[in-house]
Amino acid sequence: MCLTIPAKVLSVENSVAGSSVADITVEGSGGVRKIQAVELPGLKAGDWVLCAYDVAIRRISQTDAGEILALLEPKGHIDVSRLDREFLELLKSHAAGGLSKENIIRLLKTEDPLELETLFAEANTVRQAHLKDFFCIHGIVEFSNHCVRDCFYCGLRKGSADVRRYRMTPDEIAETAGDAVNRRGYKLIVLQSGDDFYYTDDMLADIIVRIKKICRVFVFMSVGERSLECYVRMKAAGASGALMRFETSNRALYDSIHPGQLLDKRLELLKGIKKLGYYLASGFLIGLPGQTEEAIAEDIITMKELGANMVSVGPFIPCQSTPLAGHPAGSAQMALKVTAVSRLFMPKAKIPVTTALETIESEEGRRLGLSSGANSLMFNLTPEKYRGHYRIYPDKYHGKEEIWENYGLFKEALSYRMLEKKMFEEFEK
Ligand code: SAM
Repeated sequence: MCLTIPAKVLSVENSVAGSSVADITVEGSGGVRKIQAVELPGLKAGDWVLCAYDVAIRRISQTDAGEILALLEPKGHIDVSRLDREFLELLKSHAAGGLSKENIIRLLKTEDPLELETLFAEANTVRQAHLKDFFCIHGIVEFSNHCVRDCFYCGLRKGSADVRRYRMTPDEIAETAGDAVNRRGYKLIVLQSGDDFYYTDDMLADIIVRIKKICRVFVFMSVGERSLECYVRMKAAGASGALMRFETSNRALYDSIHPGQLLDKRLELLKGIKKLGYYLASGFLIGLPGQTEEAIAEDIITMKELGANMVSVGPFIPCQSTPLAGHPAGSAQMALKVTAVSRLFMPKAKIPVTTALETIESEEGRRLGLSSGANSLMFNLTPEKYRGHYRIYPDKYHGKEEIWENYGLFKEALSYRMLEKKMFEEFEK
């Protein structure tokens, strides 16, 4: 679901006994504003609330509000008078018809602290203007770590001999999803696996049908390069979205790290998936060998050309027993720059902070990502007994899920209905 930035109640103007609605004034990230409080009896000045669409829907303690603000609030004022004019104009060019490739490269190349701070702040402002203060929380179930591919960077590649392989049964997958939705409040779940053809098209469709029978949830499939027919079946079974990165749009680089695979085939499949009406999540890896800022700019442009609704971009992290084990990790700073530029280039896109960024930078990576244009998080829902074996890279980050789940997965009737409506508009257009 979604977490919103807390606001402080300054005054309660009218609170009619017996009515569930009151007019209140709050101070939050958007300044002081008049809104309504619904189903919050006894609300008074000094209380803290979470708001959705100008409606206060949940009371929250001052301590928890402080903790959420520390997670989400961007840094304060930036002195733009010290900035180069050319840089400011370039940065603003996103509003007037979009950034050119040259401008994207210029932004990706900057190392200047003030320019970086301004880029991140601008992306955060664009996020706020287009998507308000919703930070969405989604879950991922990694249901099989078998894979027929041999990607040079991935710990699950078929050539990795030291991986303990597992497959969850359709019952286990449905149970895990049902628990996440019905007990914990998740509304969007990604089902991910290696490219594992043990699961036939029928099985994948059946898993989706089963899940949709036991809970109201948006299911996104991340099962790799299957036939278009498979994606037709999964959509008919109730899948809303598909997550598949093209990894890099640079043909020579793609060929050098994906033996037996073709970039054009993957891009064609992504276009086909989009045409089927899926909410498309796609993107690339940062920090691949020899990858230049120009190549990254082309990746960002490719994402937009594919019509991706969700940006999935993260730093490469080296993994033992892969051909790229000795290659340095992608930089967290470049991941943040790409997040910010993607936000300017695709203002309405959903941009999750990837686990790989959190793995490099821990909770700070999460905070930095969310204040540089990202607007969602993906929490791991894979059962404990399998989780450690889905090792695409080592030491994946988990943390602070509690506060996010406590306040981001609220299930009260009103907030639930409002957000569900918003999600239907977003995913089922
Ligand atoms: N088989 C599906 C597919 O190909 O889309 C999904 C599973 S695949 C393991 C999910 C993603 O993990 C890939 O798209 C890749 O970008 C990412 N990944 C794999 N190895 C990685 C590494 N060493 N560092 C960062 N990300 C990695």
